Amino acid sequence: MRKLAAGNWKMNGTAAALAEVSALAQAHPAPACDMLLCPPATLIARMADVARGTAIKVGGQDCHARSSGAHTGDISAEMLVDSGASHVILGHSERRTDHGETDAQVLAKAEAALKAGLIAIVCIGETEAERDAGRTLDVVGTQLHGSVPADATAANLVIAYEPVWAIGTGRTPTIAEIAEVHAFLRARLTARIGAAAADVPLLYGGSVKPSNATEIFAVPHVDGALVGGASLKAADFGAIVSAL
Ligand code: PGA
Repeated sequence: MRKLAAGNWKMNGTAAALAEVSALAQAHPAPACDMLLCPPATLIARMADVARGTAIKVGGQDCHARSSGAHTGDISAEMLVDSGASHVILGHSERRTDHGETDAQVLAKAEAALKAGLIAIVCIGETEAERDAGRTLDVVGTQLHGSVPADATAANLVIAYEPVWAIGTGRTPTIAEIAEVHAFLRARLTARIGAAAADVPLLYGGSVKPSNATEIFAVPHVDGALVGGASLKAADFGAIVSAL
C-alpha cells in the first residue's frame, strides 16, 4: 500500500501561506509516499492551482452530508471536488467537540464523500479520561463501526487514529500503545469492510513532528500520519514526508 502524509491546516492560512506549498512541492518532486494538504476551505481552489502538476494533493477538512440546499455556511462533497480536492477529513475530534458531530453524522458525510468521488479520511480517537478508564479500544472500535461506510474500499477510505489528548499538546502515546490500537483497528476494519481493510491506510495523528516521525512510522499497521501544527511549514512537513 502507498503510505500517506496528510497535513491538516485547521483554521490557519491565508494566501501568503501558499509559498509553503510551492516550497514543499519543489523539495519533494517525487516522494515515496502520497502527500496531502488540507487547508481551510477558502484556500482549497488556490492551493489546488499551486499544486497542479506537483506531487501534492489537496483536501477539505469537512463536508455536508447533502450535495446542495439550504445549509448556510456548509460545503458539499461535490463542491470540494469542484475546487480541486481529492480527499476530505471527516469526524476530526475538533469537529466532534466544537460542532457536536456524532458517529451517525460522520457516517452520512463519509457516504456523501464517497459518492462524490472523494477519499474519506475518517478520524477516531479517545479522550484522556477514556484512556485512563481503560476504554480506549472500546471507544475507537465503536467510532470506527459507527463512522465508516460498510461499502468503503481501500481506494476511497483512510482511517486516522488521533488520541484527543495528543492533539496539539506535544504528548504522544507510547509506541506500544500506538501498536495496540492500530492492530486492533486493522482487525475491526476487516470485520466492517472485509478483506479490503488490509490495504486501507491507517494514519496516526497527534503531535507528530520530524523528531518522532521515524519511530512512529516503524510501528506495524501505521501507514502514515495526519499532521496538524507541523504541516504548516514546508520544512517540518517535508521532514515527516521523508521519514515515511
Ligand atoms: P497536531 O494535530 O499534529 O497539531 O497534534 C493533529 C491533528 O489534529 O490532526
